[in-house]
Amino acid sequence: MSDEPTPLGSRRETLTPSRRMRDGVQRSGARRMMDLAWSIPDAIHLEIGEPDFGAPPHVVDAAIEAMRGGRMGYPPTAGLPELRERLVSKLAGVNAIDTTVELVTVTNGGCQGLYNVFSVLLDEGDVVAIPDPGWPNYRSMIGLNGGRCEPYRLVANDDYRPDFERLEQLGHSGCRAVVLNNPSNPLGTVMEPEVIAEVVDVARRHNMWVVSDECYDELGHDAIPLSPASLPDSEHVISVFSFSKTHAMTGWRLGYVVAPDSLAELVARVQEPLVMGINAAAQFGGIAALEESSHVEMMRDVYARRCARVVDQFRTAGIDVATPAGAFYLWMDIRDAGVDDRAFIESLLEEEHVAGAPGSSFGTAGIGCVRFSLAAADDVLVDAAQRIVRHLDRVRLDAVT
Ligand code: PLP
Repeated sequence: MSDEPTPLGSRRETLTPSRRMRDGVQRSGARRMMDLAWSIPDAIHLEIGEPDFGAPPHVVDAAIEAMRGGRMGYPPTAGLPELRERLVSKLAGVNAIDTTVELVTVTNGGCQGLYNVFSVLLDEGDVVAIPDPGWPNYRSMIGLNGGRCEPYRLVANDDYRPDFERLEQLGHSGCRAVVLNNPSNPLGTVMEPEVIAEVVDVARRHNMWVVSDECYDELGHDAIPLSPASLPDSEHVISVFSFSKTHAMTGWRLGYVVAPDSLAELVARVQEPLVMGINAAAQFGGIAALEESSHVEMMRDVYARRCARVVDQFRTAGIDVATPAGAFYLWMDIRDAGVDDRAFIESLLEEEHVAGAPGSSFGTAGIGCVRFSLAAADDVLVDAAQRIVRHLDRVRLDAVT
């Protein structure tokens, strides 16, 4: 296929999809494993970040009431005013972000919030620094918006702190934005406030935007992580949040973006041609979720307890893993098993019926690691961990014989 643009007036020789689509969008490794796992009826699903809790009943009731009450016309593009007002209070109380209704845009999940932001920020060929390992969708979203990704490492033997030398280097060479994701998917780590402040400072010095993905914000196990937009001099920070994980509302597709004055109107404006507005019932559900939100703390405590228990189980079996500090992801280095991470994950599914995600699908820094989502019931996790240990033992044995 030719990548040259076809001049107006000349005839295209072939019908092709866009170069952005061809080069920019890759399937996520976790989603690929999910498709494979669906063909195994008794598979244990630890491959994607899906909370095992349902949305809280009062949230469901609020959405049903809105539908029954006929409040289902086109909502305002940037979101229902009442929801945006409540988000301003949530951002102040939970994230220490001082903002106003005009600066908050309700989006179709954190996903579309991030997409809006990249659409607003990027020109063709602009470079964006993304975490490695990191959530693979950044790459696709940035590619679809004409940008180019340059990974920066989260360094395993430095508590997964960003490689600051690399960030400085990218800043010097005209990088447009840095993506920060805290708590981290896939690592389950939480960055220290001084590390976040340092990233914000590097970005400020080099005129880069910070795109702060805080979709797991309230799932910091010990404390809610520092929001970069709460720091002084953070006019270059755009923050993206979601109801998906923190309120167990993945299928509702509800998220929001807080942007500085210079960008907020554009973040909402770009939404008009994309989706016009966000599902009204989901927004009424979101209002109820913020009005009474004790479920967030309850679920966070359950995730933290489960993570600690599974880590204990692995350590007792002689497998050294770090206790996740946020979200519900367990990151495991399996390099000493002498097998490729994709091969390990595929054989684990085939032989033990446990679905996980290969670390290499999160970037080159993930090669030789695997990720398990621990958002499953306690007994399921105990069973899954036993199977993973058994499989690791078998693979290790095969490698030496
Ligand atoms: N950011 C990260 C790091 C994620 O893991 C996800 C979902 O898995 C999202 C953003 C977007 O989630 P949603 O679109 O459901 O809000």
